[in-house]
Order: sequence, then structure tokens, then C-alpha cells
Amino acid sequence: MNRSAFAARLLRWFDRHKRDLPWRREPRDPYRVWLSEVMLQQTQVATVIPYFERWLGRFPTLEALAAASLDDVLKLWEGLGYYARARNLHAAAQIVARDYGGQLPHTVEGLMALPGIGRYTAGAIASLAFGVHAPALDGNVRRVLSRVFGLSRPTAAELWALAESLLPRSRAGAFNEALMELGATICTPHAPQCAACPLRAMCEAHAGGDPAAYPARPAKQKTPHYEVLTAVVVDGAGRALLGQRPRDGLLGGLWEFISTELRAPDSDAQRRPGAAPCSTDLTDLILRRSGLKVKPSQAQPLGVVKHAFTHFKMTRQVWLVRLPTPGRALPRPQGYEQLIWATAEEAEQLALTRSDRRIWEMYRARPPSLFD
Ligand code: SF4
Repeated sequence: MNRSAFAARLLRWFDRHKRDLPWRREPRDPYRVWLSEVMLQQTQVATVIPYFERWLGRFPTLEALAAASLDDVLKLWEGLGYYARARNLHAAAQIVARDYGGQLPHTVEGLMALPGIGRYTAGAIASLAFGVHAPALDGNVRRVLSRVFGLSRPTAAELWALAESLLPRSRAGAFNEALMELGATICTPHAPQCAACPLRAMCEAHAGGDPAAYPARPAKQKTPHYEVLTAVVVDGAGRALLGQRPRDGLLGGLWEFISTELRAPDSDAQRRPGAAPCSTDLTDLILRRSGLKVKPSQAQPLGVVKHAFTHFKMTRQVWLVRLPTPGRALPRPQGYEQLIWATAEEAEQLALTRSDRRIWEMYRARPPSLFD
């Protein structure tokens, strides 16, 4: 393999075909490069663009992000998923503003010392924003390299070494970006468009006739499925009870209607999967998590919401519980940072989890009943 020919072909193709994306505008701003790399993790470009532009409208600089509240940051991230990314961005911006005079470190090591920045993101920021000679290996690059070099089960160390050995003397950032672009637009997972690929003549997987077989896919694991019971508790003043999830866990810092897991995946509990929860489950949930005593007669089923995460699925059985009087303060929440009674306007301003946003919309769209 002629490695300089590899880089030359790739860069020529990139210069001609690269997409015009908001974070690619010159001159490259390190804050924008960082933000786009974080937003693009596990998320499609088309989804990211409006979030990226809204974010910059609200937090145009790293200092503005550092000065924001975590609640505002999570609200702006709402719907993008993988909320640890937003929490880490915020925490890292505060460190950079406080300890580095507002300037992101220029080295891979310095960047990796910040929350949420791993080797890939550090390599991308260092090469794209600061011209550092460093590789950046994301899922797209892994796939392209595995195919061009005919590697069925490469280790991460092998691929990092390969990516480093291919870097041209200049334009390391453009080279990294070109490899990612090729993987995102041409050398796609299931249907690579080899006819349009600048690396076709040197690609072992293409020569072998079955490029999509590279790299070999790991055996699929069974996805765990959780059943969750959720109570939309509404008080006599029309306010809904919301709990803020613990800041350091899954969906940390986001708000939800109070919920509990009904059945752990693969548990040997007696309940049939999909069986309706009983009213005792519901009143227990509300008492346990909020200290609030409600009667089974105050509850009615509201619906079912299904949601899939990367590693598990969740089915939420949702009940509406109406209280006749205004709710009192609930000072001892179990498993939440805090509990609040929120008006419709307040709930709109809070960062709800995606499935809780759907529950909220379901609640607001329900047909009027005798209770209303
Ligand atoms: S020739 Fe085909 S398989 Fe090889 S890198 Fe190009 S698109 Fe991917």
C-alpha cells in the first residue's frame, strides 16, 4: 500500500465533495469544533445541525457556556440524548474558563484531561482546530480502515496505529475529517458505494467482493426490556408532580413524572410481561417516592409509552392521578434530587427526558373527562 497515495486520493476527493456543514466554516473555532464533535457522537448530522445552531445562539462562546446553569444546558440539549455529553461539556467549559483562561488546551493529553473528552474527541479537536499531527478514530474511520486493509477483527490498538501511520505530514485535520466523511457518506455500514470511492483501487474488501462483511460484526446481544410504572400526579391547582433525576446517573439532572421499575429484565417475578400493574403498585410507588398518600380511586390509566435506548428498551405504563386539593411541598424525595409541583408553563421550561416529554404531550392531548 502506497500510504502517500492513500492520503492524496482521499484529500483530493474531500476537497471536491465535502459537505458544507456549519461547524466547518473557516477559520475553525476550537469551541465550535469541540461542540460539533460532542454533538455528533452517536447522532446523525441532520439531527445535530438545528441543535448546534440553537446552542450557539444561546451560548456563543465557551465563557457563556461556563456561566450558564446546568438546568439551562440540559434544557437546550433536550431530545438529543446521551445527556452525560451535555453535563461533561458544561463541566469542562467551567474548568477551561477557570483554569485555562478560556482557551482549550492544544494537545491531545491536555484535552483528554477534561471531562467527557476521550482519545477520539481529543484527536479530532487537536488536529482540526490546532493542526496537531494526531489521528482521530471514530466508528466511520474504523470501518473504512478495516475495509481498505481487509481487517476482519482488528483491535483498537491496531487501528489507532494504522490511522497514525497514514497521517500525511500536513493537513492532519483535513485527513481525519476526510476519512470520517468517506465513512459517513460513501463507505456506509450496509451498502458501501464503492463505484464512487476514491480508495477503490487500493481496497482489499472491495477486491474481495463483499465489502459490507468488514469488519465482522459481534454477535448480537439480547436487548433487556424494562417495564416501568409512571404516575402523572396532578393537584387541585392543575400542577403536575415532577422529580429531578440524580445528577450523576442515567439521564442525570433531567425531570420526569415519578416512576419505578415494575419488572427487572429477565427477572423471575410472577408478573407476566405486559400485564397491567395493580392499584397497589401505583399507590406504593407514589408513597415510596414522594411521601404522598393517594387513593386507588383517584387513578385512571393514561396510556403506554415505549422508548428504546442503545442498550435497553423500556415500556412505561402511565397512570393519571388527580388530587382534589393543591399539593403541598414534598421535602423528602426518594431517589430524586427534588420534587416540584409544576404549572404547564414551568413544565415547558424544564428539561424532561424524551419519553417524559411524550407523556406530557399525551397528558395534555387527552380527551376531557369528568375530572376536568
Ligand atoms: S472501495 Fe468500497 S469498501 Fe472500500 S473503502 Fe471504498 S466504499 Fe469502502
